[in-house]
Amino acid sequence: DEDQALVDGDAPLLGDAAAEGPLPVVAIVGRPNVGKSSLVNRILRRREAVVEDVPGVTRDRVAYEAEWSGRRFTIVDTGGWSVDATGIHLRVAEQAEVAVDLADVVVFVVDAKVGSTDDDEAVVKLLRRAGKPVVLAANKVDDERTEADALALWNLGLGEPHAVSALHGRGSGDLLDAILDVLPEVSAVAAPVESGGPRRVALIGRPNVGKSSLLNKLIGTDRVVVDDVAGTTRDPVDELIELGGRVWRFVDTAGIRRRVHQTRGADFYASLRTQTALEKAEVAVVLIDAQESISEQDIRVVQQVIDAGRALVIAYNKWDTLDEERRYYLEREIERELVQVPWAPRVNISAKTGRHTDKLVPALERSLESWDYRIPTGRLNAFFGEVVAAHPHPVRGGKQPRILFATQAGTRPPRFVIFASGFLEAGYRRFLERRLREEFGFEGTPIEVSVRVRE
Ligand code: GDP
Repeated sequence: DEDQALVDGDAPLLGDAAAEGPLPVVAIVGRPNVGKSSLVNRILRRREAVVEDVPGVTRDRVAYEAEWSGRRFTIVDTGGWSVDATGIHLRVAEQAEVAVDLADVVVFVVDAKVGSTDDDEAVVKLLRRAGKPVVLAANKVDDERTEADALALWNLGLGEPHAVSALHGRGSGDLLDAILDVLPEVSAVAAPVESGGPRRVALIGRPNVGKSSLLNKLIGTDRVVVDDVAGTTRDPVDELIELGGRVWRFVDTAGIRRRVHQTRGADFYASLRTQTALEKAEVAVVLIDAQESISEQDIRVVQQVIDAGRALVIAYNKWDTLDEERRYYLEREIERELVQVPWAPRVNISAKTGRHTDKLVPALERSLESWDYRIPTGRLNAFFGEVVAAHPHPVRGGKQPRILFATQAGTRPPRFVIFASGFLEAGYRRFLERRLREEFGFEGTPIEVSVRVRE
């Protein structure tokens, strides 16, 4: 997994789009087993299924960048949403509701062989109400003989059923053309990416760590505006708050306050909310309840920030409740459990009393500065030159891969590409990453290092 993070280098969803605005979002919705994941893979031109539909497994990552006919968009895969982390089955309509909130265009996938079911009808109602463009995909039309099955889906009242076979690829080009026909240039639902606008912060953490308490505290002291963000969203999703002499946009705050789903599928919604908030944010404050042992869920949230490529601040909340002993054990837990983020700035706060909440701003600024930072290519290569001279890659099978050239391919977060004359071992790549951090800091941001092998 670690290797993946180093070599895979998936572009952050908003990174390069920053100049033109956020990419439009397409959500794939449908009952379990209609072939959503296969269709997503087809669109991403990937052979293998990314993740199987294993009951009890919620996918952390739900959004991918896709391209067709020279247009880029974000695709939201709801394929893994049928069962939440606690094993609770979610109604298809519930999934669809969330997906529709997130999307500019909805692709509704129906199994043409089965025809429309009651579940499908329920989703249709919801889609009509939402008023977003819908493209109907009639899947599993593997050959001409089954095309009549697709035609039967006209009666859903969603317009033309596009016959596809996600498995074989049949019809997927036409489906993509139909999507592009209704796709806006710039997303109306993803957060606006104005450069120079307020920086966007996501307040995340598992339930009950104190997110809404902190939000209230921050608003209570220095509230400026509660704005209804322009666009199609119904809720005022973001709040603008002035802190430390500067306005910040706290994204998806409606998600923090909305508690309707907390009884059923709470984990699922928490994790999904985290994901969507992260996509809109530049920096995340992960709240951890310092009273309690650091849990797997806390670690998962931190990992989500890294995977999303966002800047990170860790806030240990409820500090007012800690005694000497708990403080001692907390430090041990941090050393043990959060080894992957020694670079994250840390603040010890109390949302209740307001203790040290003023330290959040300098931490946010530090992390964002690292997130934005670009090392000039000359300096980067001089640095790698020195590092490699002092610590060359070990010789393997009589060969020694050399580093030819390195460049910083992007920022937000910093992404590096190293060109090498041969495969670099994972351990050596980690060493290079560590040295990069030692030299340039990057406090508060994940960095990505990928290696391209030149023959
Ligand atoms: P959320 O689910 O993350 O939004 O958490 P809440 O803000 O609803 O807080 C959960 C519980 O923790 C509530 O009972 C809060 O009153 C309590 N709480 C939140 N922050 C603090 C804090 O700094 N100190 C103490 N003692 N309690 C807190």
